[in-house]
Amino acid sequence: MAVTASKINLLDLDRRDLEAFFVALGEKPFRATQVMKWIYHERVIDFATMTNLSKALRERLADCAEIRLPEVALDQASRDGSHKWLIRLDSGNCIETVFIPEPDRGTLCVSSQIGCPLDCSFCATAQQGFNRNLTVAEIIGQVWQASRLLGERRNGDRIITNIVLMGMGEPLLNFANVVKATDLMQDDLAFGISRRRVTLSTAGVVPALYRLREVSEVSLAVSLHAPTDELRNELVPLNRKYPLAELLAACKNYIVDKPHRRITWEYVLLAGVNDSEQHARALAALIRDIPSKVNLIPFNPFPNTRYQRSSPDVIDRFHAVLMAHDLTVVTRKTRGDDIAAACGQLAGQVQARGRRLGRSAPLAVA
Ligand code: SAH
Repeated sequence: MAVTASKINLLDLDRRDLEAFFVALGEKPFRATQVMKWIYHERVIDFATMTNLSKALRERLADCAEIRLPEVALDQASRDGSHKWLIRLDSGNCIETVFIPEPDRGTLCVSSQIGCPLDCSFCATAQQGFNRNLTVAEIIGQVWQASRLLGERRNGDRIITNIVLMGMGEPLLNFANVVKATDLMQDDLAFGISRRRVTLSTAGVVPALYRLREVSEVSLAVSLHAPTDELRNELVPLNRKYPLAELLAACKNYIVDKPHRRITWEYVLLAGVNDSEQHARALAALIRDIPSKVNLIPFNPFPNTRYQRSSPDVIDRFHAVLMAHDLTVVTRKTRGDDIAAACGQLAGQVQARGRRLGRSAPLAVA
């Protein structure tokens, strides 16, 4: 155990880190290219098999490093072709990863934290409490495992075309690890997913949004859910810290001078709470001058929730009001609900440690 703990897990390193790692070993930086191809393209995690490295280097790597993946504890397939994997981590906690196939794309939804500190009132993950941030290896390991289990081949058709950080957790509260993991998702030596097809979804950690613009090229989805501070404070308690005006300014800044970029706004429709035509008009007015796409998400229920899904008529009307304001709107189809894999239903198995984010609790935006 002590030996394992002292070994460096190469899945925690992005390309730049891996080059630095080899330079520190007295090797050329291009060893990083070779090893990344083995890990991510060939799915080889045993150094002994990496035959373009000298035997001496392979032995040295085995001494000081390892390639350690999170373990898939359960693989569930939905009637509709979606998959949900329960992924067991060293700590004994489990997180969830979901794959959603559609005719023109395959979307993998990955988790960024064990549980979540954000306590949004309509989300199952919030009920689990918060344990800790995931490591880079645990985030990218979800992609590695899903791609293996879906039978993705290096030169075959790409099955995972899009990745969204919309699983358990708030990605911007795990900033450094999430940025490295998304870099690996986009790196041709790893998963090579196109930049705009990697999307980070946030409840709106405003200072982190400004920093993200400087270091990353991911697309941005923002969980809005309400057009006024009063209502949003209730649904997304983080709004008390970063109210709508600050959030919208940070979102505008994220895409300024980036042609063809827009913000995806997520809006969960909760019956009788945020789904009136008046709410729709207020939403349209709020985002009027930001290039936008709105994703309407019919609420997905979970045990002990006080909310209900809006009726199809109400959802259609809300959709129509937004369209009448010239917005691009998609009402998300519910997928994977027979295996509790839909948005907001991910619960995993979390041993809660941290307190949930209370109204005055400090927020670590590290
Ligand atoms: N913390 C991040 C990412 C995780 S949530 C965020 O807030 O964006 C991913 C999406 O699922 C968010 O838009 C979230 O609001 C939505 N969601 C949460 N609970 C839901 C539920 N019960 N039904 C439908 N969507 C839900």
